[in-house]
Amino acid sequence: MNRQSGPRPARSIKSLTPYVPGLSIEEIRAKYNLPQIIKLASNENPLGASPLVQETIKQYASAAFRYPQSGNPELAAAIAEKHNVKPENILIGNGSDEIIDLLIRIFASEKNSEILCFQPSFSIYPIQAAINGNKVITAPLKKSFAFDFDGLLARANHQTSIVFITTPDNPSGYCPGMHEVADFSERLFRLAPNAILVVDEAYMDFVEDEKSTSLLANGFLPDNIAFLRTFSKSYGMAGLRLGYGIISEKLANYFWRTRLPFSVNVLAERAGLAALNDEAFRKTTLKTVKEGRTFLATNLKRLGCRVWPSAANFIMFRLPAESLSAQECHERLLQKGIIIRQLTSYGLPENLRVSIGNKEENEIFLSALEQIISNQQKKPQNDNHP
Ligand SMILES: *Cc1c(COP(=O)(O)O)cnc(C)c1O
Repeated sequence: MNRQSGPRPARSIKSLTPYVPGLSIEEIRAKYNLPQIIKLASNENPLGASPLVQETIKQYASAAFRYPQSGNPELAAAIAEKHNVKPENILIGNGSDEIIDLLIRIFASEKNSEILCFQPSFSIYPIQAAINGNKVITAPLKKSFAFDFDGLLARANHQTSIVFITTPDNPSGYCPGMHEVADFSERLFRLAPNAILVVDEAYMDFVEDEKSTSLLANGFLPDNIAFLRTFSKSYGMAGLRLGYGIISEKLANYFWRTRLPFSVNVLAERAGLAALNDEAFRKTTLKTVKEGRTFLATNLKRLGCRVWPSAANFIMFRLPAESLSAQECHERLLQKGIIIRQLTSYGLPENLRVSIGNKEENEIFLSALEQIISNQQKKPQNDNHP
């Protein structure tokens, strides 16, 4: 037997570093011996799961022994109705993560195909692209975190297979105007005629400015654009794993040939149908997020933080210049049972991202942060005393 024998993982997979998740709520509770934890790290719904969704899951628990209907046709019909498109335009996946992964495998597997996105952007795009063996080409954001569409266009060509943009963007909360996106797509397809543009609208429900709402709302669905949405954020179902896409019928067809037949389970499917019917919960969610966003932004600024304007359900900020480092601040918040997101993995080690919580969570977070910042500012004086 030669020394090289044995299982051979794909080269693209051997060179990957494993995803390192943050400590879970349970781990932090045990590590710091805390009674209560506030998690504002993953942009989950501040009101939890809708009561109607919870009821539905209980009601369908007894159906758990059945396979779901392949293709989730009932849910596809309900989503299509919401967006005023045909059920044939709908993709459904185990989170929008699954849809991102499949789009890459379907449309970026030609030799030499390139994937384009901004740096920083949502890490799932480059990770799944690397697993698929794709070259990922990134364009920097502007200093303000606005999109430099010209930068993406300068990197587009006949090899470009998929272009990802996130509107509103994660982690900054920036959202371009819809006419800018439409204009960009037209220019893109002239330079990259073989490409699909994926517009990830995970946070679109939280947008207030009418100029930045989805192109979809205006019946805009060209052949080579995919819009992605999720039940994880405004619908409060992150743990159930349910996302969807809206795309031309022709491209949707390739998706359904590829998706595992039962990747969306019975309870997620039923919960999704219930969530679409719970308008009251959604309205309260949007109101809570919009009020909380203004409240957090105002008060973070009052504490001297730099705050980036956000159209989403989170805020990116930076501590005052004379203050402690983002990492230390993150650690001290953990000690008080508050989890927010460090952005080192996005290449932004001095920035932090906090999800909008409910009123009480926002207040607890702010007073903890205020304490941490003011203790730090007193410290040099204390150091003068032995
Ligand atoms: C949260 C998020 C999603 C949603 O992912 P799911 O797999 O549906 O939970 C998609 N894109 C971005 C940019 C996100 O931040």
